[in-house]
Amino acid sequence: THFGFRDVPTGDKQKLVAEVFSSVASKYDLMNDLMSMGVHRVWKRYFVATAQVRRGDRVLDLAGGTGDIALLLRDRVGETGSIVLGDINGAMLRVGRDRMTDMGKVAGFEYVQMNAEKLPFPDASFDLVTIAFGLRNVTDKDAALREMQRVLKVGGQARVLEFSEVKADWFKPIYDFHSFKVLPRLGKLFAGDSDSYQYLAESIRKHPTQEPLKAMMADAGFARCDYRNLSGGIVAIHTGYKA
Ligand code: SAM
Repeated sequence: THFGFRDVPTGDKQKLVAEVFSSVASKYDLMNDLMSMGVHRVWKRYFVATAQVRRGDRVLDLAGGTGDIALLLRDRVGETGSIVLGDINGAMLRVGRDRMTDMGKVAGFEYVQMNAEKLPFPDASFDLVTIAFGLRNVTDKDAALREMQRVLKVGGQARVLEFSEVKADWFKPIYDFHSFKVLPRLGKLFAGDSDSYQYLAESIRKHPTQEPLKAMMADAGFARCDYRNLSGGIVAIHTGYKA
């Protein structure tokens, strides 16, 4: 890239990720709006609107953080459905739970602190498993994908929303400038924390791009793996099914 990485030893990644999200939890929602100029809301809406899910379904939203996806899923599964919001970080989960409770959204939600690499559920527990802007933070992504596959019911869908590779060459320098110059400054200005936002920019660049992630999903045992780019590949939605 144009602006370079600080290299994080993989053994320390989990600790670093924990520090980042504990530090940003209270400002997380505001920062998402600022950094993406609100567009993350559109991506998330599309991600949930196009999910294979029905009323009454049981859904797992992994790395669910402050609950944006879980909230949108609520309308799709209805009163008879249920949503488990799972996250490794207690601070993020608390912000999410408080936010939902303040909105009067209580019934049908469960909050479980869990590592995506080792899910505390039996096989075939869910109709849909989602992970939005979470997979790139997971140390062992293959393990997380295998676990998603394991807990799905046969015919169920897994959906991954994640930053990916921008396809248009003219846009790349602008995107890099935004990631490595604008983001850390926004982080410093609004969250008093430029390091966490530097980490975010770097984690995006290290995440597997469209085709490699599709191959990883196939390796994890998913059938009919595919993806769709949004906003020219700034993000992509990957899907796979349990056969
Ligand atoms: N899905 C939410 C959204 O789209 O706004 C939150 C995304 S946030 C960028 C990433 C979340 O992944 C954080 O809440 C973090 O705690 C969580 N996370 C990181 N590593 C994880 C792991 N191994 N297992 C589960 N959650 C993890």
